[in-house]
Amino acid sequence: MKVYKFGGASVATSEGISNVARIISLCEDDVLVVVSAMGKTTNALERVLDALMADDHVLAQREWDSIVAYHDAVIDRLSLPHDILPFRSVPSLWDKSDYDLSYDQLVSLGELISSAIVQACLLSQGIDCDRLDMTRLLRTDHTYRDARVDLAVSQALLRQALQKSTKRVHVLQGFIGGTEDGLRTTLGREGSDYTAALVGNFVDAESVTIWKDVPGILNADPRLVPNTVLIPELRYSDAVELSYSGAQIIHPKTIRPLENKHIPLYVKPFGDPAAPGSKIHADAKGPIQVPVYIWRKNQVLITVRPKDFAFVLEESLNTLFEIIHRHRLKVSLIQASAVTISVSVDHTRYVAAALEELAERFTLNYNGGLSLLTIRGTTPRILEQETQGREILLSQTTRRTARLLIKENTHT
Ligand code: ASP
Ligand code: MG
Repeated sequence: MKVYKFGGASVATSEGISNVARIISLCEDDVLVVVSAMGKTTNALERVLDALMADDHVLAQREWDSIVAYHDAVIDRLSLPHDILPFRSVPSLWDKSDYDLSYDQLVSLGELISSAIVQACLLSQGIDCDRLDMTRLLRTDHTYRDARVDLAVSQALLRQALQKSTKRVHVLQGFIGGTEDGLRTTLGREGSDYTAALVGNFVDAESVTIWKDVPGILNADPRLVPNTVLIPELRYSDAVELSYSGAQIIHPKTIRPLENKHIPLYVKPFGDPAAPGSKIHADAKGPIQVPVYIWRKNQVLITVRPKDFAFVLEESLNTLFEIIHRHRLKVSLIQASAVTISVSVDHTRYVAAALEELAERFTLNYNGGLSLLTIRGTTPRILEQETQGREILLSQTTRRTARLLIKENTHT
């Protein structure tokens, strides 16, 4: 059994979806096809939610109509029947007092819709397949927008479903799961990669392939850096570090389930299925031979200083991280000095509440609008180039790796 994951960009158009069918028809093994919402549908659904939360029903209707029109146009171009679109009218809010709960009920529609369309397209092209409903098979807790998966239950549910099926190809939704009491949940933005890794682990897949709009894993984002090079193979630990540093190529949670079972992960271009792409596996020769540049944008640097002078680092760390964890902030960098602790976190909607609580316990300083640049395989020359003309709020360097927290408007 293989796992193929197609992200939003690969299923954004009718040509993209036909190409998915082509790639699957080239595969002779049984395959689990994990799909994301089409194109930027997740963002569009977030806008519907925001409008509904703000009681702006006109705007919600308009945003929803454009989502439906977009999917209808793709269905048309694929010559599929329109009744495969499972939702047509603006969904009502689940519970206006609970943003996260409402988010998961609404935003999960993107994957439910895309998987229905992809399955219909495969069937129309003669690929016999069924569709698995991950809101029933991927069992999670109630941590909406960042749901934790019950691995044992989910594995048993998925295996049962596959045993009952006579098909060779199964289409399923990335990013979404469900609770025991039937509510839909999501695994965090870009979570479809994680789904692919989990199901790969559950079925002891021979490999997992993430099909992307890039040739594989590059040493930098080609939109930001000229002359990027492909990294043909990486160790699991390198891949974790790259994704944690902000490389948007794979979700950080993707690696562990694969590493545990030594399942190789391929990142391949969906425009050229025969190309080798990049392979992440246990036996990769390391370290990576070229310098790697990774940007993690939209960071906030928080620096705390205990209010009393009896500064005990361990205690302050405990308090700080307890608050950070409870507010679900994602930490990208940590630094402690004799009397202060600094952390940089992703700027999310939870930051404000966390800052408020931190201010009760610490003297607080914070700076938003920052980017974290991680350079693996750095040299003094590279470091000089990258720091020139930029306002650096914090830097951490080891022999091979530099991490720079840069004021956003000071880099180009
Ligand atoms: N559709 C979700 C998102 O855009 C999940 C994914 O694409 O991985 O975040
Ligand atoms: Mg994605």
